[in-house]
Amino acid sequence: MSEIVVTLPDGSELSVEEGATVADVAYEIGPGLGKDTVAGVVDGELVDKADPVHDGAQVVIVTDQSDEYLRVLRHTAAHVFAQALQRLHPEAKLAIGPPTDEGFYYDVTDVDLDADDLEAIEDEMREILEADLPVERELRSREEALELYEDNPYKRDILEDEAAGDEELSFYVQGDFEDLCKGPHVESTGEIGAVKLLNISSAYWRGDEDNETLTRVYGTAFESEKDLQDHMELRAEAEERDHRKLGKEMDLFSIPEVTGPGLPLYHPNGKKILSELSGFAESLNVDAGYEPVETPHLFRTELWKQSGHYDNYVDDMFLLDVNDEEYGLKPMNCPGHATIFDQHSWSYRDLPVRYFEDGKVYRKEQRGELSGLSRVWSFTIDDGHLFCRPEQIEAEIRQVMDSIYEVLDTFGLEAHVALATRPEKSVGSDEIWEQSETQLRAVLDNQNVDYDLEPGDGAFYGPKIDFAFEDALGRKWDGPTVQVDFNMPERFDLTYTGEDNEEHRPVMIHRALYGSYERFFMVLIEHFDGKFPLWLAPEQVRVLPISDDQLGYAHRVKNELGDFRVSVEDRSWTLGRKIREAQDDNVPYMLVVGEDEAEAGTISVRDRQEREEQDVAVEAFREHLDAEYGEKRLEPDFLAD
Ligand SMILES: [Zn+2]
Ligand SMILES: [Zn+2]
Repeated sequence: MSEIVVTLPDGSELSVEEGATVADVAYEIGPGLGKDTVAGVVDGELVDKADPVHDGAQVVIVTDQSDEYLRVLRHTAAHVFAQALQRLHPEAKLAIGPPTDEGFYYDVTDVDLDADDLEAIEDEMREILEADLPVERELRSREEALELYEDNPYKRDILEDEAAGDEELSFYVQGDFEDLCKGPHVESTGEIGAVKLLNISSAYWRGDEDNETLTRVYGTAFESEKDLQDHMELRAEAEERDHRKLGKEMDLFSIPEVTGPGLPLYHPNGKKILSELSGFAESLNVDAGYEPVETPHLFRTELWKQSGHYDNYVDDMFLLDVNDEEYGLKPMNCPGHATIFDQHSWSYRDLPVRYFEDGKVYRKEQRGELSGLSRVWSFTIDDGHLFCRPEQIEAEIRQVMDSIYEVLDTFGLEAHVALATRPEKSVGSDEIWEQSETQLRAVLDNQNVDYDLEPGDGAFYGPKIDFAFEDALGRKWDGPTVQVDFNMPERFDLTYTGEDNEEHRPVMIHRALYGSYERFFMVLIEHFDGKFPLWLAPEQVRVLPISDDQLGYAHRVKNELGDFRVSVEDRSWTLGRKIREAQDDNVPYMLVVGEDEAEAGTISVRDRQEREEQDVAVEAFREHLDAEYGEKRLEPDFLAD
């Protein structure tokens, strides 16, 4: 028998017999590992341990100590749900039930379920865990499978689509339940320590609005009851902080049905925050040598054909017919900036040339995918593009990274960094790929950045560094990307004159500091739980007169605080109620003024943490505000000890 070679996570190579499975690879590494193997990751895909590996495959062995284990366990939990459902509602038909980042879901039909039914199903699921049923993989013929799913159009659809051509189909069997499934699964239902059904919604078959509506039940599962409890607490906290809820309470934004799906409207309070964010990005960009530019919202599709977006993104583009000519709303800002660059002739001495713009883009996502500010149809990117000589990549990337780290520090966010390198299909010479990957790596290594290497995950037109933000609850969100591009300069025939007097191709780098304002705004709302730092708070100070007699003085205090966003509480409420209201509105500072203060020309300062100081001179407080605002401090700190 001939041998094949696979690559292990540490980069070492292992030869195994042709036809070897993931489990065989594990046993080859060591018998202990072989025994502990739950599943495998082959070329990035989670697979059953009985699946074969191919020559050249990247193989990761999954045990119950691996990060992927929870995913495997949750997939089994989805089957446990389906099993319990069919015991209680034999009429139910099953569609698909995959694991997700938070747990799992199962799409079902022909059964009338509402939230009240979940508890009984959950109880039945616990019985199944208790029974510790072995989960076994069985191979069936296509004929058998088709016969079994005679009355189930969804499973038949899978058989005729994803599984078309497979003569042997894998099923997973546990007790009285079986499901057409590629796995992987844990070995028995008893490995699942805790399950919880979370909610019911609806979904289209295959996510397509033209297909029938199914009932989707969401659940989650953990190895232990304790892990589940911790997760449920975090979930409750996350619900409290949900940006859609806080956005409404704080009057920041809305996405009304009448204006169209995924088209957010920013109210005055939200716009104040966006303006501060935009000003901060602009100051970082200007310091780094970027020049502001502005481009319109739509272009002739000629431009999108030249950039290649038309070929690849046309389904996501909003197209318009104007005087028999086709136009498209811009899904990206890059072609506009490349065209600006192309309006001049450049010498090597002029490079790098750097442009930035808060550019609004439009992408037609499926309506079912839209969610608050995190998935929208229109959003603004703090978009920058720079054009440089190949040997300048390192210095430019270093400088972009510095700005991104300044953003992270300013907001108290953590980040996960990944370097994605050349994929199999790519444009650009070996030389330029090697040169640019080496420079990207050098920046990350020299700055001691802890990053994941994602071999082959770069775009076809260049390597990239991806950032994911981690917020105060430890959740991760897609952040900015720094992307080297050898393709667009080619497509737009961009050139500069080199020292040798010849024409050369510049490298284009796409970069953002926040990514999209919408996504970043969402992260900030939830990260700060609506309690924005002074520099971002839509209302920074509220003056609370003890009685209406001090209204005049309250307005004088407001005027003395000059440029800050100050309001005067003029409703005739008790002081206690005024304080509670300001507290609920997350105002960083409350200034209480009564008869004594009015007479002495002072204020009593109170902050969100309910700390208080009396007899403060207005001038001293204003100086403090200037400093706290100017330094973008994270918390109100006038009264900090
Ligand atoms: Zn399955
Ligand atoms: Zn771009």
